[in-house]
Amino acid sequence: MSDHRITEMRIHCVSIPARAVHSHGSGDVGGINVALCELTTDSGLTGWGEASPWPVFTGTQEGAAAALHVHFRPLVIGQDPVLVEPIMAQAERVLVGHPEAKAALECALLDLTGQIAGLPIAELLGGRARDSMPLSFSIANPDFDADQADVAQIWDSGVRIFKLKTGFADHAFDLMRLEKLRDTYGDAIRLRIDYNQGLPAYDAIRHIRDLEAFRPEFVEQPVRMHERAALAEITRAVDVPIMADESVFNVRDAQQATATRMTDIISLKTAKSGGIRRCLEIAAIARTAGIEVYGGCMFETSIAHMAGAHLMAAVPDLTLGCEFYMSTYYAETDIAKTPFPVRGGHVHLPKTPGLGTAPDPDALARYRTRLLSHGDS
Ligand SMILES: [Mg+2]
Repeated sequence: MSDHRITEMRIHCVSIPARAVHSHGSGDVGGINVALCELTTDSGLTGWGEASPWPVFTGTQEGAAAALHVHFRPLVIGQDPVLVEPIMAQAERVLVGHPEAKAALECALLDLTGQIAGLPIAELLGGRARDSMPLSFSIANPDFDADQADVAQIWDSGVRIFKLKTGFADHAFDLMRLEKLRDTYGDAIRLRIDYNQGLPAYDAIRHIRDLEAFRPEFVEQPVRMHERAALAEITRAVDVPIMADESVFNVRDAQQATATRMTDIISLKTAKSGGIRRCLEIAAIARTAGIEVYGGCMFETSIAHMAGAHLMAAVPDLTLGCEFYMSTYYAETDIAKTPFPVRGGHVHLPKTPGLGTAPDPDALARYRTRLLSHGDS
């Protein structure tokens, strides 16, 4: 318990254009559309969290804003912000789904709790196992010439991990891009592949076997999210490790995935699972079965990236790194007061209490959309 009480929740819907369209097996995305949750206390503290939805994956920006405004606001006004689990358990009881809105609420509560305790969120989770983690950039521009120029620049900045988005054009295009990247960068480039559900299940194994010659470190979500039996079959059939992303949202999915050995790796995302601490529960389940975890992201600003960075810093074992690249290499602008801490191809976790970042007021005013925002003063 603390002496602090939450007095207000404000929701800011924000839309930031991307520098380039990114294509995926599940469609194109040209910007970042999120709902930011701002909690203030009677002691003058402010906590931030972000709901980062993707309509073809978890939900919508307007749905997340409504979940926060209508359903979660009554749970927190007048509450002590350090009661994170009781508040989140109540949020899960009053509203099914909407994991990205729950992630925003939990992050804002943890941000306040950290400021009250004088500790970064990672320390509230048990302590950081690492101060930095290697960063992956996603290659997803349908214009591969433009993508190669971007990759060259990002390579020069120190990034060595690249994830190729596949399955949105034809198989020959995917093979051509892999061959070109392996030829250009040799063994120094760490390549991964993400189909975003883009392969037909009946023919997925043959497609993946063709890619194995280019030595990818993993192949992510080849088939549709509900095709879990097919995913398990693929995991058994091919040599390259398989990662589940869309097929594992919550602890129940993780339990099923370990029971059936459906996958070799699970992508952790606070927006899928309803917060940082539910992701740690998934990581614990995965660990019991020798399944690796990975720091995945949705289309996010620095705020959600930082939540993910605290999560992945606190995971006991991390060999595959993270992909919190959006605010540095994808968005037109980083909305935060201080740029997201990417240096030399790594994300460096701050040591400041709480989340360790907040939106810049001018950037927030510029990218805030009027229609879906609540709590204007
Ligand atoms: Mg993915």
